[in-house]
Amino acid sequence: MTEIISELPVRPRPTSNESLLGYVLRVMHANGYVGQSSVKTIFKIAVAQLGNQSVNSIHFPALQKTMQKRLRLADDDIQRCFKNEWDGLYNGSRVVADYSIRKPRVCLACLAEHQQVDRKWRFAHITHCHIHKQPLFTCCPQCNFAFKWSPELLEKCPKCELVWSKELIESQPPPPWLQYEKSLKPALRKRFIEDLYEMAAVAMRFYDMQLTRFRSMPQDIWDFHGLFDFSFRLLVDADFRENQLINRINFWRINGDFKVLNERSLQLLNRQ
Ligand SMILES: [Zn+2]
Ligand SMILES: [Zn+2]
Repeated sequence: MTEIISELPVRPRPTSNESLLGYVLRVMHANGYVGQSSVKTIFKIAVAQLGNQSVNSIHFPALQKTMQKRLRLADDDIQRCFKNEWDGLYNGSRVVADYSIRKPRVCLACLAEHQQVDRKWRFAHITHCHIHKQPLFTCCPQCNFAFKWSPELLEKCPKCELVWSKELIESQPPPPWLQYEKSLKPALRKRFIEDLYEMAAVAMRFYDMQLTRFRSMPQDIWDFHGLFDFSFRLLVDADFRENQLINRINFWRINGDFKVLNERSLQLLNRQ
């Protein structure tokens, strides 16, 4: 039996700054669907694959076909809107190849305003919304429920049903690494971000004696603010960096099984 895929009654158009998954969820929400499993029913995206959606994903061609039918969108429109989503997020030759996070992290004020998920929120170091001067959230500020990708997240907490509004969260200045990034010209910005993630690679395995390369950001990190705060200070504050490197040698000396390594060997390792 052939399955008939029908058009959805409400078909909002994608915008240039929103993520592909955010757009799919916005469409779902506009048509009254709730729950992660409804995304599988309508767009055939497995729940486990929700956080991986992008034009680079191996599942994208199938999603694109479904979008054409459900949303009456041409291939070109879909490609044009989402082709930049992965810009800067992946480069296999870097110390951290993939900068993206998979779990939801959102500005509640942006969602309250237009229910769109900004594609830049996927960068691990973007922890703050520069429009609303508010931190991005991974959990509900009222009930602490850890967000999952579902259509109703665009409007309210799926658990306690707190409705997002612009006034919910007090504004805060952006964290120093985002202020610094914004102050740079585009060419320097790219270099700075690479340096920042290189420091993050050091920070994520700080007491490891060899610099580890990361194919992706570890998915068990819950405090990205703390990670990039530390990484940024390592990068720009020479005194802080020196102190941390001394701490590291002390840790190795006290805790490690490094009896055959002398002080000079430890110092050399520390500078690699
Ligand atoms: Zn915002
Ligand atoms: Zn809640």
